[in-house]
Amino acid sequence: MSRREELATNLEAVKARIKNPDVTLIVVTKTYPVSDVQILHELGVRDFGENRNEEGLEKSVAIDGRWHYQGEIQSRKLRDIATWADVVHSLDSASHISKLANAASKTLDIFLQLSLDGDPARGGAVESELPALADIALASANLHLAGLMCVPPVAADPRTAFTEIAAIHRRFISNYPEAKSLSAGMSGDFEIAIDCGATHIRVGSSILGSRTVR
Ligand SMILES: *Cc1c(COP(=O)(O)O)cnc(C)c1O
Repeated sequence: MSRREELATNLEAVKARIKNPDVTLIVVTKTYPVSDVQILHELGVRDFGENRNEEGLEKSVAIDGRWHYQGEIQSRKLRDIATWADVVHSLDSASHISKLANAASKTLDIFLQLSLDGDPARGGAVESELPALADIALASANLHLAGLMCVPPVAADPRTAFTEIAAIHRRFISNYPEAKSLSAGMSGDFEIAIDCGATHIRVGSSILGSRTVR
């Protein structure tokens, strides 16, 4: 099978499992070459996700699309990320949000990353920290607060975790009604995430193959 056939087959299989037509599929192309992104673009994919600044920059200049950054954020990379990313999913600190707002020369969609357990190794802010972060985003003309993003704790039962994430999101949008989107669900759990209310899923390995790193 050619790489094109392989990607086409995997993409169709993932799409067939997405029962809600309103869900946005972000294809996470991290670690895979620009040639794969090119094929996916020819297959109609427009939303691409990356975890590293250098890699996202390289691919986004080559291929048109809506580029999502969902990796861990390093302060010194934010200015660069603002040049190529259209959407940033992994914001969890006031200083990063302010810095991004200052760096952005166009409107960026942002998601605040929620942590269910406060584990610093996984990133994310706990529910009580979200309003202060949201207020900074709302005060910036360059940032549009799209919603929340969450990766459940490794040991968590996915349905329990996504149910809790959705409940937190509902409470959050009662104060921040524009933050309608919920970015949750990856290759291993996206159907459950959609069931629980995810509007954006970030899927890599089910489409491109399993990665040896990251
Ligand atoms: C790598 C990554 C994904 C995609 O993961 P898969 O299991 O390959 O689908 C989604 N979200 C984040 C934050 C990631 O780091």
